[in-house]
Amino acid sequence: MTKTISRRSFLKITGGTTAGLSLAATLPDRFLLWAEEQGMLKATYTPTFCEICFWKCGVMAKTINGRVVKLEGNLAHAGSRGKLCGRGNGGAGLLYDPNRLKTPLINVGARGEGKYRKASWDEALNVVAEKMTKIKEKYGPESMALFTHGTPTDHFLPLIQAYGSQNVGMPSFAQCRGPRDVGLELTFGEGIGSPERVDLANSKVVVLLGSHLGENMHNSQVQDFCDGIARGAKLVVVDPRFSVAAGKAHTWLPIRPATDLALILAWINVIVSEGLYDKAYIDSYAVGFNELAAAVKEYTPDWAAVETDIPAGKIIETARLMAKNAPAVCVHPGRHATWHGDDVQRSRAIGILAALLGSWGREGGLYLATTASFPKGESKPFPTPARDALNLGPYPFAGGEGVTQVIRSATITGNPYPIKGWMVTGTNLMKAVPNQKETIEAIKKLDLLVVVDVMPFDTAMMADVILPECSYLERHDALAVGKGKSLTVSLRQPVVEPRFESKPGWWIAKELGKRLGLAEYFPWNTLEDKIKSQCAAWGVNYNELKQKGSLTVPNTSNPYITPLNQPTFKTKSGKIELASSELKEKGFDAVPRYTKHPQPPAGEFRLIYGRSAVHTFSRTTNNPELNELYSENEVWLNAKKAAELGISNGAKVRLENQDGAVSNAVRAKVTERIREDCVYLVHGFGTNSKELSRAFARGADDQGLITRFAVDPICGSTGMRVNFVRIKKEGLDA
Ligand code: SF4
Repeated sequence: MTKTISRRSFLKITGGTTAGLSLAATLPDRFLLWAEEQGMLKATYTPTFCEICFWKCGVMAKTINGRVVKLEGNLAHAGSRGKLCGRGNGGAGLLYDPNRLKTPLINVGARGEGKYRKASWDEALNVVAEKMTKIKEKYGPESMALFTHGTPTDHFLPLIQAYGSQNVGMPSFAQCRGPRDVGLELTFGEGIGSPERVDLANSKVVVLLGSHLGENMHNSQVQDFCDGIARGAKLVVVDPRFSVAAGKAHTWLPIRPATDLALILAWINVIVSEGLYDKAYIDSYAVGFNELAAAVKEYTPDWAAVETDIPAGKIIETARLMAKNAPAVCVHPGRHATWHGDDVQRSRAIGILAALLGSWGREGGLYLATTASFPKGESKPFPTPARDALNLGPYPFAGGEGVTQVIRSATITGNPYPIKGWMVTGTNLMKAVPNQKETIEAIKKLDLLVVVDVMPFDTAMMADVILPECSYLERHDALAVGKGKSLTVSLRQPVVEPRFESKPGWWIAKELGKRLGLAEYFPWNTLEDKIKSQCAAWGVNYNELKQKGSLTVPNTSNPYITPLNQPTFKTKSGKIELASSELKEKGFDAVPRYTKHPQPPAGEFRLIYGRSAVHTFSRTTNNPELNELYSENEVWLNAKKAAELGISNGAKVRLENQDGAVSNAVRAKVTERIREDCVYLVHGFGTNSKELSRAFARGADDQGLITRFAVDPICGSTGMRVNFVRIKKEGLDA
């Protein structure tokens, strides 16, 4: 039974944020709450699930007099368990943000000039459909691309596929977890899922490599993490920055950036050479051990100490700690894994380490997904495009989510065929994809840029047509099926009516479909009708789901390997591949090999970046409630280096990268908590959109400084920790 974490320890791990608290209520909210207390008004609760990030936590939304006054975690939901994180509490801030997109808008100036006129839905949808039809006629349907993230994908991916294009790019692959998923698939035949199947609550040892859990706030995962630590798990944090998680660690390893693979290979070396691996597990489930053992011989702790700046003794000690506590060891595979361009191999190394410890499919390690599923429904097949999709580029293991920057390059060059239209939903490309200049260059080549979003983010403000989607509290979305320890299904349903003239994504997709002659792909009147028929086909009681928000299908849990619950590995060999046959076939190293990456020249720092517990990328920096908690990022700078540069804590500085890109002025956080060779920014700040009154020009935009990226040749993901910056004094001490 999972121990419930106290609110106090949850707050400690999340860096003292507002998780579990109600954010400052506005005056009307306070009055409504007072009136409810006096018995003058009655509150209602509507279950739904959160979209402030992609974790999809269950929410109970409290409304009084038609106004959402409070959001609480839904106890029935596996992702929230009665709690929301600080960001989740900010859902009402999004709903009531006066900066929201209110009506469809049509560009009347040059692209990016920000001049728009209001349009009716009919007019805006007709313009988009006409332009899409022209693109199809002139260049073929494949010349229209979709960039997407989150639940809008469920509506707009079928639309673009029905239209005839498979050119889809999701930054969640090439700019985030793609190499992790590919690395684990090549090792175990499957990824670790989202939410990740990390059994942190039951771990005896947790190893975080660059993951700053707590600042990187994934609700149920951080709850499990807190539970594990409360139960006495030992925590090893590998990070050049003394993160909030490092503050809870038994061992903090302040690694030289870009050398993580050396450390992991040295850990493998110790575990193999000292015979500390799980022999029975490896004999039963793995192949390639001898090849692995031979390949890692050279990666001794003494060698790795020189590379990583971590003493050999510490490397040996932590390897033995893991082995002693195996298999209840969770070496977290991370999430944002696009660092240096050899990221699939680093993820492979993490997978191999987990296999040697026998922790895949074992309690306290990485648990197995439920094998239960809902039956697949019938739907009209999509047309087969005449030309192959180009979105996977030349990368043999690129995933179906597509490689964003490949589509961007094709848009610029017109090769192998022109891309003339972009539909962008649920993602702010300007802040998600590295090298903003190239994104702008590509946008200039388009015949159509249409953006569907709730807020006027930077990318939206470059669009020809902006279609205002309503917030998650005002709409239905596709059912969320969870395949964690058990099979679950959750419902997103409107808590209040859409504000202004905004519309749900499903309605926008269906209306566009109608105008494009694709109505037969949307054979239902409302999404709720579709959900009801899905529930009927799945044997799920819709009324119960509507009332509870989330249901767990009984007897669908099989998280650990037992004699009766044997794992299947969908690799070529049907086993865990310590040496990958598929990589070998394609000419890559079968066992990860260390590559030395350049270090910053004297006077420069590697730019590293991460998350704040109260923000999700650039998507929340303008949220009235979350902006109040953290309105501007700061640049972490080592105290010794700051003294050398004459920079005091709080002084305003600018960052200039190796290509001359310069950031907004940003405050220096002068601290001992970061190595001397790097600086750190929270991602997502420095917004260019003037329509975002709270976030505009606040803080430094890390993505603006990421002009270079190292492409992983295996899957096409973009390693983004390869930029070096100088610190320039602004001369405006606080
Ligand atoms: S982790 Fe937080 S922001 Fe993300 S879905 Fe859950 S409550 Fe919402």
